[in-house]
Amino acid sequence: MSTQERITLFADVIVPLAVPNLFTYRIPNDWNELARQGQRVVVQFGKSKFYVGIIARIHDKSPQDYEAKYIKDILDATPIVNETHLAFWDWVATYYMCTPGDVMNAALPSGLRFSSETRIIKNDSFSLEEAAEDYFTEREWTLVAALEARTELSMLEVADALGIKNVQPVIQSLISKGAARVMEEMKGEFKPKKESYVRFTSEINEEKLQEIFKELEKKAVIQLEVLLKYIQLSQWHTKKPISVKKSALVNSSGNSSLNSLVKKNILEVYEAEVSRLKQSEERMLQSNELSIGQQEGLEKINKLFIDKNVILLHGVTSSGKTELYMQLIDDAIQQNKKVLYMLPEIALTAQLVNRLKKRWGNKVGVYHSKFGDNERVEIWNGLIQKEPLANSHQPIAPEYSVIVGTRSALFLPFSNLGLIIIDEEHDGSFKQQDPAPRYNARDAAIYLAQLCSAKVILGSATPSVETYYNALSGKFGLVELATRFGGVEMPEIVVCDLKEDTRKKLMKSMFTPYLLGCMEQALHNGEQVILFQNRRGFANFIECKVCANVPQCTRCDVSLTYHKKADLLRCHYCGYSIVLPKICPACGSPLIETKGFGTEKIEEDLALFFPKARTARLDLDSTRAKNAHANIINLFEERKVDVLVGTQMVTKGLDFDNVSVVGILNADSGLYFPDFRSVEKTYQLIAQVSGRAGRKSKRGKVVVQAYNSHHPVITRVMGNDFIGMYNDQMEERKNFAYPPFTRLIEITLSHRHQEDLDAMAPALADALKNRFGNDRVLGPEYPIVSKVQNFYQKKILLKIERDKYSLKMKDMVVDSINVFLKKGKDYTKTRIKIDVDPQ
Ligand SMILES: [Zn+2]
Ligand SMILES: [Zn+2]
Repeated sequence: MSTQERITLFADVIVPLAVPNLFTYRIPNDWNELARQGQRVVVQFGKSKFYVGIIARIHDKSPQDYEAKYIKDILDATPIVNETHLAFWDWVATYYMCTPGDVMNAALPSGLRFSSETRIIKNDSFSLEEAAEDYFTEREWTLVAALEARTELSMLEVADALGIKNVQPVIQSLISKGAARVMEEMKGEFKPKKESYVRFTSEINEEKLQEIFKELEKKAVIQLEVLLKYIQLSQWHTKKPISVKKSALVNSSGNSSLNSLVKKNILEVYEAEVSRLKQSEERMLQSNELSIGQQEGLEKINKLFIDKNVILLHGVTSSGKTELYMQLIDDAIQQNKKVLYMLPEIALTAQLVNRLKKRWGNKVGVYHSKFGDNERVEIWNGLIQKEPLANSHQPIAPEYSVIVGTRSALFLPFSNLGLIIIDEEHDGSFKQQDPAPRYNARDAAIYLAQLCSAKVILGSATPSVETYYNALSGKFGLVELATRFGGVEMPEIVVCDLKEDTRKKLMKSMFTPYLLGCMEQALHNGEQVILFQNRRGFANFIECKVCANVPQCTRCDVSLTYHKKADLLRCHYCGYSIVLPKICPACGSPLIETKGFGTEKIEEDLALFFPKARTARLDLDSTRAKNAHANIINLFEERKVDVLVGTQMVTKGLDFDNVSVVGILNADSGLYFPDFRSVEKTYQLIAQVSGRAGRKSKRGKVVVQAYNSHHPVITRVMGNDFIGMYNDQMEERKNFAYPPFTRLIEITLSHRHQEDLDAMAPALADALKNRFGNDRVLGPEYPIVSKVQNFYQKKILLKIERDKYSLKMKDMVVDSINVFLKKGKDYTKTRIKIDVDPQ
């Protein structure tokens, strides 16, 4: 369009706030041709707050009920989110009942929202004197004070002032309260890493070079060395010389010779962007041979993909699902399509990425939350379709064909997505709990694939009941792999009765004599052992022998877990911790004992029974550092560790070929939670841990220690009877109206005062019962942990039959909540959390 026409254009902008609507801003006429859907813009919101938002739509209709403010700045030349993904965001917000801003915050790496270079300043129009004392939290006050003193702070300085790492929520909150704002120069947040390279100047040719050689030979031997080294490194004699880093030439000979060569106009130094991500060598390996079972599975998948968009690949542990995925990735790459490979946890990526990189080299990218912001932004930008760079000398950021990532990778701006693989689809980590959007990446991926006309493979040895139901009912295709790859047998499962052994006083610490015997044998043979306990820390809690006092968290309704190494009692819900008291805080007695055991205690007790064994621990506490997890796994893989003790982390898809014994120390501990999925989860857990046992030449053994050794789920696991467990569960869920027969929406109300919560929660439940009927609304009830971080909580569960479920029902829920909140001033102090399809 021509600029002379002076058309007034508007943009609907997603702002990073929990507001239900998009806001319309006016595009300055000069920018009519610059502004595009999917770009980031800086907009003013309210009197004095500025945010980075995304243009969702451009149109020419001015808003009806307010005057549109101008967009302050456009941050991107190329849109960073495409149209398909904006449609996807919209679906996530609607389906999971959250705001577009919530989705944007989850989708964009924080480097594209705020960056570490972002500086915040105090908002001069805000009057501190008028702010009520409880207007800010303690952290916010600290930051307000720091801003008063310094007027402007970088993210790092904020982190310093607050003594915490994740400062964005505090800053965001301070901005929304009007006390601070982001400095307006928000451009260039992502700084590509630059490096100096060396190349011949344009004057150099073969003939000239000979002259230079002669000259240098006489006068400057060191310069000659540098020159020869450059020629060697750059492979200058080939037609396609490669870039040589300045550092590679400088290291051996110092700077001065290089500088002389530059002065003589022989070499020149130039700057170029380098990828921050480690570039591995391109090694295109031939694909591995498939077994007959795998080959049949692959053929079936391809056949089913003709008219199914989603396929469940149900393969027993070690059946070689990954090899099938790799074939499918190959096919997608051949067709120039991109692949998203999702895993439930970062923990799993290292082993897999190595495997994928061996085949596809730099085409493989990794994206997860433990990556630094700049690395994440780089992956994000690497997927955006861009105009080619003007300077062809610059090494271009790798173009990715396969991205391996955790749930947030779902929001990457793929174009031409052909396949989404969701491995371990049953895993609860695909579901985001807090904050909103509380999305399940598996389910959302299926919708995204539909938008992109991509195919989806869900893989698992223990599929979720819902997914298996969808496969049996024909909604998904179903492919089963029943045998382990390479003829490895399924492990032998032996159950040990903890009640019996405890009564007979046979227990040695947390071990049954049978498990100890198996371990001893394995270690004697030079084989490895994995021990699983679903609890980290040293003891579950401590108790006074005299008065039975158990120290509790002051902010949550749970007892504190003892961590021996740190010598702390710690709350696993809010992180609150205190030093282990020397005497009972209640009665003063020094007789304090530890109860129950976690991974830390197991590791310690192992030393008593196997003093020579090398042990390692894999849990949340031992893997906080960036590469800690990979390091532990590597040590175990290289057989530098004999016994690996861990929480769920050890259950997930790791393949070790020397593990002959797996011990599950307390297999039925998860069964007694009031959760309709507890049996399913227990089955999955035991089956997954068991899958770690077994080697090519020898059948593995799994020792399952349980208090209720006759529980049906233990019997199903022993018989490797997934279908049996599935049928048991389907019957139960039908009787009690749980998914897949219904869909659930869980509403959590929380309040600082228990009495207020007790008075209000039933009011909302009644309103919902009036609309949906008594049978569809359960609660309000206190969950097991009824207080978290000083907030009491109550839950209301809405069950809606699968065939009656609709968006209209969600509108009714929102409407009921809005009516409820309008009831009185006190009601607005209630926090309300909505969770669609809770895990
Ligand atoms: Zn006491
Ligand atoms: Zn707590």
